[in-house]
Amino acid sequence: MELMKRRDFLTITSTAGAAVLAGCAMRCPPVQTGTGAAAPTDPPDSDALAEWKWPDEERSLLEVQGPDFEVVVRGCSDTDVLRLRARTVPARLDLTDVAARMARTMVDASGVGIAGPQVGLSLRVATLMLDYKTDKPHTIFVRNPVIIERSDETVDGYEGCLSIPGVGGKVRRNSWIKVTYENEEGEKITTEAHKHNAVLWQHEIDHLDGVLYVDRLLGELMSMEEVRIKRKELDELPPEGSHIIPGSERLSIRGRLNSIWPGIHRS
Ligand code: ZN
Repeated sequence: MELMKRRDFLTITSTAGAAVLAGCAMRCPPVQTGTGAAAPTDPPDSDALAEWKWPDEERSLLEVQGPDFEVVVRGCSDTDVLRLRARTVPARLDLTDVAARMARTMVDASGVGIAGPQVGLSLRVATLMLDYKTDKPHTIFVRNPVIIERSDETVDGYEGCLSIPGVGGKVRRNSWIKVTYENEEGEKITTEAHKHNAVLWQHEIDHLDGVLYVDRLLGELMSMEEVRIKRKELDELPPEGSHIIPGSERLSIRGRLNSIWPGIHRS
């Protein structure tokens, strides 16, 4: 319900409203993405785990009872959690609850990806529903993802963001990337992603560097109605905008969640 309250406050339903948000985007300075590599000052994992402390705001978020986080909606403050470079997380830090709650939050918001800062946690973590364009999507939770290679070839698509509700816009992304990350068990994984999956990875990893798709906008922000028309023309559903999640994946995520909070079922 909190999510809806915040959304009601900022949801843009008209072209005029979109122009207001576009102006807002211009006042928020773009953040340099750099190479996406981990900060050189990151300590070794064992030291990082021993020294790990949750900031008070994040601890209070984690202590709230319930399956969902509230999606952080973009403001125009430079100190907004969406605009910070998120912290590297130790591979062995237990984030089981965080992963489950982020997946639930993503699904309930009809998204196909969500990053730590979007739920108020300035952590380099994200939940991605890969292959969401197919009948076999699968959701993964990743820690400390880094893009280590990119194609020269690019692809233009219309993106939306759970943190910027009601609008979308055209963005150019690399059509292929190679990524390293740590999975839920802390194992190091290297994988490649193409097309829609590549766009999804880039959108979510941008969030971890304080970058929003509006920083990469080609042209103007559009109302979601305009975006839907453009997407239909391209036959695509880029992240993270409204998406019909296949029932099998929805059930899979809820099954995992219910193993953590037994008895929680929401239609
Ligand atoms: Zn987003």
